[in-house]
Amino acid sequence: MNTTWHSVSTSEVLEAFSVTMDGLNDSNVTSRQERYGLNRLETKPPKSLIVMFFKQFLNPLIYILLVAAIVSVATSHVIDAAVILVILLINAVIGFIQETRAEKAMEALKELAAPQTQVRRSGKLRRLPSGEIVPGDIIIVEAGDRVPADARLLESAGLKVNESTLTGESQPGEKSISPLPADNSLADRRNMLYLGTSVVQGRGVAVVTGTGMGTELGRITSSLESIDSGLTPLQKSINRLGKILVVVMLGVVSVIFTVGIWRGLDTVEMFFLAVAAAVSAIPEGLPAVVTVVLAIGMRLMAQRNAIIRHLVAVETLGSATVICSDKTGTLTMNQMTLRSLYYNGRNVEVTGEGYCPNGEFRFDGHRLEPETDDSLKLLLTAGILASDSTITVGENECSLFGDPTEGAILVAGAKANLLKETLAENNPRLSEIAFSSDLQYMATLNNSPDGHIAYVKGAAEKLIEMSSHVWLRGKKTTVTSDYRQELHQQVSDMATQALRVLALAYADMPRDLTRLTPNDLSGRLTLLGLVGLFDPPRPEATEAIRQATAAGIRVVMITGDHVTTAEAVAREIGLPVGKAVSGRELAAMSDNELQQQIEHITVFARIEPLHKLRLVQALQSRGHVVAMTGDGVNDAPALKAADIGVAMGRSGTDVARESADMVLTDDNFASVVAAVDEGRAIFNRLRNVVYYLLSSNIGELLMLTAAIAVLGQAPLLAVQILWINVMTDTTITIPLGLEPKSGDELNHPPRSPKVGLLYPGLILRVAYTAVLMAAGVFLVFAWAREHMDIDEARTLAFSTMIAFEWFKGFIARSDEKSIFRLGVFTNRWLLIAVGIAIILQLLVVYSPFLQTAFHTAPFEPQYWLIAVGAGLTLFVIEEIRKILFPLAFSKGKWRRS
Ligand code: ATP
Repeated sequence: MNTTWHSVSTSEVLEAFSVTMDGLNDSNVTSRQERYGLNRLETKPPKSLIVMFFKQFLNPLIYILLVAAIVSVATSHVIDAAVILVILLINAVIGFIQETRAEKAMEALKELAAPQTQVRRSGKLRRLPSGEIVPGDIIIVEAGDRVPADARLLESAGLKVNESTLTGESQPGEKSISPLPADNSLADRRNMLYLGTSVVQGRGVAVVTGTGMGTELGRITSSLESIDSGLTPLQKSINRLGKILVVVMLGVVSVIFTVGIWRGLDTVEMFFLAVAAAVSAIPEGLPAVVTVVLAIGMRLMAQRNAIIRHLVAVETLGSATVICSDKTGTLTMNQMTLRSLYYNGRNVEVTGEGYCPNGEFRFDGHRLEPETDDSLKLLLTAGILASDSTITVGENECSLFGDPTEGAILVAGAKANLLKETLAENNPRLSEIAFSSDLQYMATLNNSPDGHIAYVKGAAEKLIEMSSHVWLRGKKTTVTSDYRQELHQQVSDMATQALRVLALAYADMPRDLTRLTPNDLSGRLTLLGLVGLFDPPRPEATEAIRQATAAGIRVVMITGDHVTTAEAVAREIGLPVGKAVSGRELAAMSDNELQQQIEHITVFARIEPLHKLRLVQALQSRGHVVAMTGDGVNDAPALKAADIGVAMGRSGTDVARESADMVLTDDNFASVVAAVDEGRAIFNRLRNVVYYLLSSNIGELLMLTAAIAVLGQAPLLAVQILWINVMTDTTITIPLGLEPKSGDELNHPPRSPKVGLLYPGLILRVAYTAVLMAAGVFLVFAWAREHMDIDEARTLAFSTMIAFEWFKGFIARSDEKSIFRLGVFTNRWLLIAVGIAIILQLLVVYSPFLQTAFHTAPFEPQYWLIAVGAGLTLFVIEEIRKILFPLAFSKGKWRRS
């Protein structure tokens, strides 16, 4: 298709795509979707299943076992070789299934976090997943949006786009709409938007000219992966653990060899013992279980409205010590209602809730007739014209498209019969200054019957400062310092009632002015009045703050709103009392002062997004692990710097989402706390699994070394150890990874970020369990080889080890709480898994086929009492320990414990 859309006029482009400013209609869309496909870049081809399967064989243990299999064949132990290979295959299949399922779950989550775009179709504005956009769609982009496709601009209001990804040019230039020479390079096509670039400022309307692989980015890139897949500290620490265990294993193998030679064992036997030691030292199942626990945990978080973009957040969440939260929309509902007005020196109350224009204006207890009140009409007109949002009034329902702050003003206008459509038609907009948190206001230039007029709405103090006049009793009057004082007093009174206070103003502009800039407004405004908007706190916020506080996490409110409003809202939602600091005060503080005071500050108000980065850094320098919420394009640096950057899924910009580690689908503060809760639970599960596997591995090693040294014989054969590690342990660790939350995850302090899965208490617990198990199996074997033949004695030792594993499944559910407190049936999967493990063990002992494979020989049934008794003893010892000394193994588990 034509690639020089920048050289033709806007009407020609619209014509070429057979579309009007109202957008495509549904039937156009369907046929175009068929023709052009989804708006997607073909990223890396999905991982091939075969590659994924064979990847399971790429680990040192497998190499050792393959060598063992070859040696087995060479020394005529063909059956052993076959068993090793079959178990390896089973291990690979289990790993493969778990990995593919985890991969699928993560893919599904990525879909949930997919960006959306504002599109006009059949005259209506909608938000659609960016993938559904087709050539010819009319799209609207605003500051913070990722441009979803290539498009030709039709309207531009101060639009600046960062195109460095495409052109390498990092200074965003302002966009325009007029046609340009056909031979302009990409960087100079100022009337075009390109996929993958991001809007820095302003607002634009454009018609899509190319999607997916038909875009400039599609042409130059064949792979684009935005979600990183590097290893997280947790995965790295697991790899490190694996390496440590390999070293331990090598040490033990050399000891076994030395002892073997000393005791006169033959070489082949020693070789198999060494293989047994190697097998016993390595937790085969660990990497797969970790992947699965993380994937399941991420799904649970997603169910609680927190979508993880970077796996690392799952770990970091558990050690968060501060949550810095935006106020509007996160702690509050962002459903604004205009409650009060101040104009003409008097306070007027506005009744009614929601976006339907039902309600009236009241002064001194009496109803006001808005039609006869010109000052009121002028005030509301300014608010309506200086806004981009729309409300739709239906029979039963009214809806808002756009910003709730503006919505509240539009609704109040509608209550006075001032409708946006009519006003906009009679006062066409010529230019605008888009709202930004730095400016704290928005302004439009309109061609009104009385001339060119700028209408401004914004933060009250800001506009009071910018005004030279006020509108009083139907006249423009120079503002006196007393009246300014009075206005500030009014702002403060409204703010104390937790209202967001905005001022509305206008300024007459020269006829020849067609492009409005902030310089045209400063010191020239006539203030029309104040409006007070109420934004109800989220009902869940209070409880979530209480939970966070109990969990040793500080909550800090950060808002662009007025200090007094912020403090009033903080009181209402039960934020622990602390200091409130404004952006101005913050700017005056040195880094040192900020670090000293930051522990006592709970509210930061009138904050500009760029201040947030300083706050993150100050908190981090005090050793805090910081979660920071954000939605705007300017929040990106703070989100990146925070340990856990949290972006808003609904109201957030694409840029914020892409900088974040986690995205909230409901923009709700309570979901951050829920994610911390889940994050802690995931970590507990992983620690339980690590305890389970390490105590088995170390127990096996100890038992093997002790038996060879003392008895000159191994109680278990390599294939038997392989059976325990692959069959029994995998069966039991999966349900441990599904352990339900205990409910008191939020009653503990956070985990120290320096401590990974292993902490002193856990290592102690592993050692103590391993010693008990090794001693148990050793004693049983020592006794059994005096009373039965060696195969039976080994089978009994093997079954004793297995019985330890069954009981340890229950023990590993918690290091503190007795199973009877947790509830025997709360983890049903574990009961089923242990049932399966028991059946597998009966099969390996009693089925002739498996007897041959695993060199087992059935012992007398009464000897099961010994095996099960040993396992039960460990269980009873642990249960008693949990009752008497529940915190015996808690050292290092949490911060400051
Ligand atoms: P929070 O930081 O709590 O989420 P916020 O993001 O709404 O609050 P900003 O968007 O930075 O805060 O807004 C700062 C101030 O700008 C507000 O207190 C208000 O006075 C003013 N303001 C907010 N929205 C608009 C708007 N659409 N038009 C004009 N002024 C606005």
